[in-house]
Amino acid sequence: MNLISRDKAHVWHPYSSMNNSLELYGVEKAEGVRLHLSNKKILIDGMSSWWCAVHGYNHPKLNKAVEKQLGKMAHVMFGGLTHEPGVRLAEKLVELSPDKLQSVFFADSGSVSIEAAMKMSIQYWISKGQPKKKRFLSFYSGYHGDTFHAMSVCDPSNGMHKSFFKSLPKQFFVAAPNVQFGKKCIPSDFSEIENALKKYSSEIAGIIIEPIVQGAGGMNFYSIDYLKTLRHLCNQYDVNFITDEIATGFGRTGKFFACEHAEVCPDIMTVGKALTGGYMTLAAVLTTNDISEVIANGDPGIFMHGPTFMANPLACSVASASIDLLFETNWYANVSRIENGLKKGLLQADAYPWVRNTRVLGAIGVIELSNPINLAEVQPMFVERGVWVRPFGRLIYLMPPFVINDVDLAFLCSSTIDVVANLKLSGNQIIPNKI
Ligand SMILES: *Cc1c(COP(=O)(O)O)cnc(C)c1O
Repeated sequence: MNLISRDKAHVWHPYSSMNNSLELYGVEKAEGVRLHLSNKKILIDGMSSWWCAVHGYNHPKLNKAVEKQLGKMAHVMFGGLTHEPGVRLAEKLVELSPDKLQSVFFADSGSVSIEAAMKMSIQYWISKGQPKKKRFLSFYSGYHGDTFHAMSVCDPSNGMHKSFFKSLPKQFFVAAPNVQFGKKCIPSDFSEIENALKKYSSEIAGIIIEPIVQGAGGMNFYSIDYLKTLRHLCNQYDVNFITDEIATGFGRTGKFFACEHAEVCPDIMTVGKALTGGYMTLAAVLTTNDISEVIANGDPGIFMHGPTFMANPLACSVASASIDLLFETNWYANVSRIENGLKKGLLQADAYPWVRNTRVLGAIGVIELSNPINLAEVQPMFVERGVWVRPFGRLIYLMPPFVINDVDLAFLCSSTIDVVANLKLSGNQIIPNKI
């Protein structure tokens, strides 16, 4: 049996069922920005494996970092033991993040870091003698992961976690930030959130938001004023400001962390995805001395969380190497170059009637269509053209590895435009326009 039929017999994929008929592609190896499929086709990667592979694949320096650590130890428990890779990575994260973030709690995936961040905030208020502050205020179109408390702060209406809605803790929701990146806010943009805070701040532990870019919930790029004002409102109403940089962190939006666009410092920040350059699963929660000290001085005086694979040395080693490599390769220049390439290559998509809006920020390009795409039918169109792009909902989006060169980037964009040109609206779906 070939790989695909063996897979279809036993393996579950993200957001899929065991009997789905979606085409599946075997990958034999990946190198630089190219995925080599088992059917011998070679695709240029436009996804960075969901924001992660910022240096592309099979990078000699990152391979070496893993191999070097593997020669010493793959893992040891982090309870009562420590090691150079964990400490070094924590130092780097503290140095690169906003000044007040001084403590690092490692977790094993983005969703788990969100759980830990929310627990941290709840435990902070318990330690301060305000145990009623245990709910969160979040935003429509937000996405924070697939575990239970993470699901509870995701967009409640987009259907992703609909089946579980009744099993989730009830949070407060306000409209998604609706002022675009580059635009100024006016006071009325905040009336809904101010009303919610006025009424419920005695129950709210924190506001949680993806800074500047709402990712999987809609790829919205919103105003830096919005993020600035949220910081003020959190101070004013005494709630924690929690920013989820799992997608935006490590340069993707044109700043190392997206909160730098607005020059704000959160009380709690999560990172993940590109942290290890896409090599291993690792995430982290960063917080302030205020929060860590209040928890330390409260009851029970310790933070009640501790993943088995916390600070895995292989993952921490490759994460430090990935961060070093971002600076050695001048991530900023690459992201600006990609931003220009995406603008040059994608903005013409606006000419098609089934395109609602095309937008670019940093190394993220988004073509938002008027209606949802039929993924089963449209996905092969990208593969036929030699690129790996995976649309979801109404969105076709590109976020290539930072190392993509101008020729490959232009090919990625022109192939994407060629797909868009060969779509059509049928009923309420976007499908291929076969002639
Ligand atoms: C991907 C993502 C998560 C969840 O991370 P996992 O590693 O998939 O658990 C949380 N928040 C944001 C903003 C993300 O993009």
